[in-house]
Amino acid sequence: MNAGARLDRARERLARAGLSGLIATPGSDLAYLIGWSPLPLERLIALVVRPDAEPVLIVPELERPGALASPAADALEIRGWRDGEDPYALTARLLPSGRVAISDGAWAAHVLGLQRERPDVAFTTVGAALPLLRAVKDPEELEILRRAARGADEAFADILGVRFAGRREIDVAADLAEALRAHGHGTVEFTIVGSGPNGASPHHEAGERRIEPGDAVVLDFGGRMAGYCSDITRTVVVGEPAPELARVHEVVRAAQQAGVEAVRPGVACEDVDRAARAVIEEAGYGEAFVHRTGHGIGLDVHEPPSIVAGDRTPLEPGMTFSVEPGIYLEGRFGVRIEDIVAVTEDGVERLNQAPRDLARVI
Ligand code: ZN
Ligand code: ZN
Ligand code: ZN
Repeated sequence: MNAGARLDRARERLARAGLSGLIATPGSDLAYLIGWSPLPLERLIALVVRPDAEPVLIVPELERPGALASPAADALEIRGWRDGEDPYALTARLLPSGRVAISDGAWAAHVLGLQRERPDVAFTTVGAALPLLRAVKDPEELEILRRAARGADEAFADILGVRFAGRREIDVAADLAEALRAHGHGTVEFTIVGSGPNGASPHHEAGERRIEPGDAVVLDFGGRMAGYCSDITRTVVVGEPAPELARVHEVVRAAQQAGVEAVRPGVACEDVDRAARAVIEEAGYGEAFVHRTGHGIGLDVHEPPSIVAGDRTPLEPGMTFSVEPGIYLEGRFGVRIEDIVAVTEDGVERLNQAPRDLARVI
């Protein structure tokens, strides 16, 4: 789908959501809508989308050449401003009164500048008012996400061959980063290596701890390919697993399988969470599953929808998100298994195919 078509769809969504406008600032919303990714800086860049008017892109004059090169330039009116002029007054004049959604990552300085000019406008975030703006992927996006997932799978296959015992988490993290780059990732976004007790902290940063024989090691890593994110988790064991580790891993594997099998169009996000969580609760580890089951993924690693109790959003074909249950036993170890999945016309497609059994490493 070309960028002009995305703008048209955004205008329809705005109208349906009862919003009078949408402001996209540099970041994923702007990249999605017009295919342009300028650096977020202090000079205001703002795409103003309204239901019944042509989209307007406000840019500092020095950024005009970049804006003109964007794939959607023909579908926009571009208005420049010069240093010394007030870009907030210029932008504020375009806004209808009512409710206007602005990119979640917009700088506070920009939001406050607009608010000062237009106290009559109720500003809200895209995440709150238009959470599904980027949630349903088109075929081109799905193909890139598939490629990114395959690259992450291949990076995991590589890492099974490296030495763990006696090395520090940051050494294995460096290997993971190298493997992601070797398998087509342009950037590496995160490389979580949580060994032994560190695995019980879901977002543990790889540190100086030396990995020991018998350790469970949570590996959660991803990067970007052509703008789109990969995100995979596997838990491995150094040598032979203790009986409880093997048991907990099997519970998480079964929970992840149940979550994935619950995915199909029309099912609510919270039902996928429920399916995975029920398996862990039945095994007696409910208290140890301390986070939601998953998150949407695309141009951002974490984006709507949220696979969590209370989110009744019905799944639609083309949505992509993670299914990543885990069990975290404080002071001992953690286990998590994560795949990215896509909702299809009649069910689910796993984008990650790396084996999910408890792999032994050396
Ligand atoms: Zn995360
Ligand atoms: Zn992850
Ligand atoms: Zn994730």
